[in-house]
Amino acid sequence: MEYMRVWTELDVEDVQQHIIMVEDKYGHCPGCKKIGIELKELSNCPGCGREFKYVTSKDARAGKHDIVMRTRKKLPELVFVDYDDYERVTGKKKAESLFNI
Ligand SMILES: [Zn+2]
Repeated sequence: MEYMRVWTELDVEDVQQHIIMVEDKYGHCPGCKKIGIELKELSNCPGCGREFKYVTSKDARAGKHDIVMRTRKKLPELVFVDYDDYERVTGKKKAESLFNI
């Protein structure tokens, strides 16, 4: 099997509520700011209990896919979201709420 990035429509708020950020071996929860989360057999945040459905990583920027493959092996049930897309969309949403659009 090979990896290809697929574009799909997602609810930004749903992604924000259910995403884990992964760096190398561990993850961190943007919800409760817990760091050092073990990735094995992970479905909920050990800090705040939020359900994880999506994962992203800064290390996957610019099409680097090593981290994607490693993360997909550990967390096959999560959808890997492109970090730049996530930043772009959540940044846009933040700007909209600032200007009340
Ligand atoms: Zn949490």
